[in-house]
Amino acid sequence: MKVVISSGHGKYIRGAAGPLPWGLDEVNEARRVVEQVATNLRSFGVETITYHDDVSHTQSENLTRIVDFHNSKTRDMDISIHFNAYEVTTTTARGCEVLYVSSAGLELADEIVDKVCDAVGFINRGPKKRTDLAFLNGTEEIAALVEVCFCDAKPDCDLYRKEFENVCAAIASRAAFRTSLSPTPSPLACSVFSARGHAYAFIAPAHPHGAQCPLSRSLACGRKGSGLRGQG
Ligand SMILES: [Zn+2]
Repeated sequence: MKVVISSGHGKYIRGAAGPLPWGLDEVNEARRVVEQVATNLRSFGVETITYHDDVSHTQSENLTRIVDFHNSKTRDMDISIHFNAYEVTTTTARGCEVLYVSSAGLELADEIVDKVCDAVGFINRGPKKRTDLAFLNGTEEIAALVEVCFCDAKPDCDLYRKEFENVCAAIASRAAFRTSLSPTPSPLACSVFSARGHAYAFIAPAHPHGAQCPLSRSLACGRKGSGLRGQG
């Protein structure tokens, strides 16, 4: 199974940014997350290709280039990493949400957002259907666009910095779980996962490798997200 994962926006098409000294730069952080998630996925035996747009100078060129890169690869899953933005706040936590457009995308988005929030403690804003995003509409495989947290909300930024490794491990674990649901799931992914004694609690039955498999579904955490729509 293969995953293609890319960072949102680009070297010359910058995304959102929170204020210094505590705010996050969306493009810089999305690139870090992409590379760490890819490292984790590869350690689980999942072939992973990463992409960052260092070329485009217009937004439409940027969107087209990212979508075209994903579609040019043989893969089973498309993931895009972004950071959200709304209004600068030093006191209000806003949280993580994962965007999708297809029903298969919903399952993936649902699992990723639960896992990240469970592992890290971000407010869980849930999976959100978006029909207006080029990445989700243009990519041809199961797709999810992860808005890790709000780059202009200090509580989110502080938690992200503290829990960076766990954020990435949580995203990777859900993507690895999804790829393991193929007709010929890779036992390697499970054994590697077990051998590493992952810190998270994996619970649940309906998994091809059995209830004890560490790739099984985790408990969902409560959702407290408001209806606000971010801009990252
Ligand atoms: Zn973005």
